[in-house]
Parts: sequence; C-alpha cells; structure tokens
Amino acid sequence: MIQLQQIHKYYGSQHVLKGIDLTVGKGEVVAILGPSGSGKSTLLRSINFLERATSGSITINGRTVDAASASKQDVLALRLSTGMVFQQYHLFKNLKVLQNVMLGLTDVKKLSPAKAKEISTVLLEKVGLKDRMNHYPSQLSGGQQQRVGIARALALNPEVLLFDEPTSSLDPELVDEVLSVIKQVASEGNTMIIVTHELGFAREVADRVVFMEDGIVVEEGTAEQMFTNPLKERTRQFLSKAL
Ligand code: ATP
Ligand code: MG
Repeated sequence: MIQLQQIHKYYGSQHVLKGIDLTVGKGEVVAILGPSGSGKSTLLRSINFLERATSGSITINGRTVDAASASKQDVLALRLSTGMVFQQYHLFKNLKVLQNVMLGLTDVKKLSPAKAKEISTVLLEKVGLKDRMNHYPSQLSGGQQQRVGIARALALNPEVLLFDEPTSSLDPELVDEVLSVIKQVASEGNTMIIVTHELGFAREVADRVVFMEDGIVVEEGTAEQMFTNPLKERTRQFLSKAL
C-alpha cells in the first residue's frame, strides 16, 4: 500500500501542491487526471523524490518518510520501492535494450549478470521485444522504446509503478501497443498510478480515478462513478471529453 499525506509543494512562492492526500491499495490502479499545470507530474515525482515535496509524508510498504526531513537512506528506500515510466522514455542511448533493462538489477540489486539477463529477457518477452534485445534505443520506434521503459520499471519488482503520460510523446498509431502492454501489467496485480490524458484508457484500466486541478484533488471515485456520475460540475466538464 502507498499513502500520501498532506503533500505540499512550493516552487518559490508558487504553491503547486496544496495538501494532497492519496491512498493506493495493493494491486490497485489509480489514474490521475487533470488539466495541464494542475500538479500531476509534480505529485508523481514527489513520490520517488525526483522532486522533494515541501511538506507531507509518503508511506510505502509500511515505511513512512517525511518529505521535508527525509535522509539519503529514506530517499534510496523509496526509490527502490518505485518504478517510473516517463513520457520521454529516458533510456540510456549508449546501452542496448537488454542492458537498459539489466542495469538496475546488476548495479542496484547486485544480481549476477547471468541472473539479471534471465529476468530481463523474460520481461522483454512480456513487452514483445525479445527480438530487439540487442538493438540500441535509437534503432527502435517510440512505442518500442516506451515498452523497454516499462520492462525496465518492472525489473526491480517495485511496490508501485508510476507512469507519467506514457503515451503522449508517441505518434497516434503507436499509442495502442503501449496502452495494451500497460493494461496487461495492470491485470497482473501490480499497484499503479498513471497520469494520463487518455481518458478512454483511464476509464478502462483504472480502478479509481483522481481528478486534480490547481494543486488539489477536486474529486476522486471509482472509474465507473467518476465517468458516469461525478459529483462536481468541474469534474463532469473535464471528463465529458472522454465520452
Ligand atoms: P501537464 O499536464 O502539462 O504535464 P502537470 O499537471 O503535470 O501538467 P506540473 O508539471 O506538475 O503539471 O506543474 C504544476 C505547476 O508547477 C505548473 O504551474 C508548473 O509551471 C510548475 N512547475 C513544474 N515544475 C517546475 C519547476 N521545476 N520549477 C518551477 N515550477 C515548476
Ligand atoms: Mg505533467
């Protein structure tokens, strides 16, 4: 389980996250929706300390870390509990696909190269890229690169997978292959938080939907309730674009 409590974030004097509370149960898939600039990426990045929240706490797997006073060790522990998939893939361009997926296993988990290769091969097969293992990222399509990003995030077997607009850099015809891999990962019991502008996908894959605007959670509910019968007019307006 992962729990965020009263997360605030300031950039200078700009108050970007205004006391976010969010609990995600084990195996739950939560979609975070909201207009541009509402703080979705900042929230996601606060979970693994790519950004440090100004105040609030983050609990993953029973370990509670206070954002303001987190030690290096706390940050490392949270990073190891999370796997992130980025909009821009963020693969190592000088490493082949297999090495990109293996890296965390050999360098962070200290597995033997043979064991790391075995695990990575299985994951690359899962995302449909076994035959591209020895290519460099530049030799792959955007959709393929993102599927490598997903395999890499899965490699450390994290408590929670964080996706920040995983399809918004892709050409439209490549979106579906990535969404279907994410759906598969979701169906396997992984705990996931997905920031996305793909409303139809959110409705289909998410157990719960959180609608954010201006650094607050305006409304949250089951995907079904949020898309068919939201309580707030603002939520209705935003989500009606999906229908
Ligand atoms: P989008 O849908 O466009 O990705 P978002 O909901 O992810 O938007 P954030 O990227 O979290 O929004 O940004 C929230 C606010 O914080 C915005 O006003 C943005 O300009 C500001 N912001 C984000 N990152 C920084 C930064 N590194 N320094 C200063 N301000 C930032
Ligand atoms: Mg964003």
